[in-house]
Amino acid sequence: MAITPQQAQEAIDARVAPLPAERQPLERCIGQILRQDVYAERDNPPFDRVCMDGIAVASSAFARGLRRYAVEATQPAGSPALALSTTDNAIEVMTGAMLPRGADCIIPLEEYDLQNGVVSLKGEATGTAYRNVQRRGSDSQPGVPMLTSGTRLGAPEIAVVASAGLAEVLVSRQPRFMVVSTGDELIEPGQPIAEHQVRRSNAYALVAALRGRGFQHVLNDHILDDEKMLQERLARHLSQHDVLILSGGVSKGKLDLVPKVLKSLRVEEVFHQVAQRPGMPMWFGVGRAGQSVFGLPGNPVSTLVCLVRYVVPAMTLAMGARRVTPDPVAMASSVQSRRSVAYFLPVCVRHDEIGRALAEPRIPRGSGDFLALTEADGFVELPPQAEAFPAGYLVSLYRW
Ligand code: AMP
Ligand code: MG
Repeated sequence: MAITPQQAQEAIDARVAPLPAERQPLERCIGQILRQDVYAERDNPPFDRVCMDGIAVASSAFARGLRRYAVEATQPAGSPALALSTTDNAIEVMTGAMLPRGADCIIPLEEYDLQNGVVSLKGEATGTAYRNVQRRGSDSQPGVPMLTSGTRLGAPEIAVVASAGLAEVLVSRQPRFMVVSTGDELIEPGQPIAEHQVRRSNAYALVAALRGRGFQHVLNDHILDDEKMLQERLARHLSQHDVLILSGGVSKGKLDLVPKVLKSLRVEEVFHQVAQRPGMPMWFGVGRAGQSVFGLPGNPVSTLVCLVRYVVPAMTLAMGARRVTPDPVAMASSVQSRRSVAYFLPVCVRHDEIGRALAEPRIPRGSGDFLALTEADGFVELPPQAEAFPAGYLVSLYRW
């Protein structure tokens, strides 16, 4: 009996080899998975920081009723702190400057008039302690990690790494993917095509789905349904890549040679067939050097669904990232399925009046109807336990 998608996922997660970490300069880290904790270099802010343009005064002077102050100096950002000589005076300050010693509050320039070096506060001005001052260490302190291993480095995280003073960090090494399409009938775009032939679209879809998610090393090849050729070329690809993603040739037909050839190359079969629609013939195994080998069914819808459902999450996990659970979404209308087979249903996501995400089915006419996928945002997974799912039923959403 074929295993369920959940069992397939668990079997893959248990066998996909973790990728090593490597040191990379910060400018090459965008989108990468961090493999170390990042600590603050020092207190952040590193000093009591002025956060408005205005004047720095002592709140005690304001409290005793002082509303006119002589401006004795200017404190710009990037210079050491000045000191107030008396609490009767003020120091003009710029955003980002150190709070002058003896002052503890900033009155913004909208709240006073300045004439001949003397500030007169307007009626609405207030001067409470630490107004418009960011206290030293209020954002972060050394010893407390600001980022932890497994974080994906987007723009804000890159800023945090830079603020920690690190020019390079440990990130996961990128997996080296080889996408292999198989099939005698397949013809490259740009080449003349006969009636009995089919465009080699899967390889393009798989490469696009991987590159679009930030995977950088993605090569591809095409191999005919010929045992010897498959054997030679797959042996070479196994020696040069971490992950092989094959499309086609994994069903039970006479020319579905992929499982047999992989076996002869001593790739251990972990499973063959998953109780799912589409994509039932999916194959997964592990090479002798720990390479992950995914044999995806050739039908274009199956290929892409299996890549998104299994390969992408497994490789993200192998890079040390935390597993991202798919978003739950409610079905917009009722759907019928088949008991004991999970159903991956392409959907379009829209939002109802209160902003709730709803999944509207976009049922392909067959597993070769990839045109239907262009109208869908992704697919939902209807579990094998039931045959009928009512509108409002919560399902996991996978985006293309
Ligand atoms: P297979 O899994 O090899 O039996 O292929 C199943 C169906 O998918 C056949 O109709 C193939 O022509 C089609 N197919 C296989 N590989 C590709 C590909 N790379 N691009 C487009 N269609 C494909
Ligand atoms: Mg084929």
